[in-house]
Amino acid sequence: MTAEGTSSNEKSAGQTPGAPSASSSIGPVSILTCANCGARNRIRPSNRGAPHCSVCGKPLPWVVDATDQTFPVEADAAVAVVVDLWAPWCGPCRFVSPILEELARDFAGRLKIVKVNVDENPMLAQQFDARSIPTLMVLKSGRVVDRIVGAMPKPDLTVRLTPYLLKTA
Ligand SMILES: [Zn+2]
Repeated sequence: MTAEGTSSNEKSAGQTPGAPSASSSIGPVSILTCANCGARNRIRPSNRGAPHCSVCGKPLPWVVDATDQTFPVEADAAVAVVVDLWAPWCGPCRFVSPILEELARDFAGRLKIVKVNVDENPMLAQQFDARSIPTLMVLKSGRVVDRIVGAMPKPDLTVRLTPYLLKTA
């Protein structure tokens, strides 16, 4: 029950109406902790490259929370984006969440995790047809390229995501 075809909802998810692509100074600030030196970095969304630590220069694990309002700018990234559709009451979601944080560290610079609480963001829940959670949506250049329904152990998830992590946009 981990695969549920990709044909049902392939609408482009990462549209950014009016977002000036040349600027990286818009959007909400996320605090990203460097896995190398522990420095806390204040990072805004960017669709160019991936964030690096201001202290040691290493790529940062990129994990952010998004809402109905901030999703378009957060999902617009040059690296593979994995959207985690979750809710506080969902046990399997609590299983998946730390795995995604580990993957963000393992693949820092090549992956962005965008977490969406479906209870608080009904527009996104409807847009992604998130009837069962956890659901992971994989986006490349704003387009949905994969959809993973249900919890998956880290080795399986790594294998599933690797093709999207090799190619940088
Ligand atoms: Zn650092």
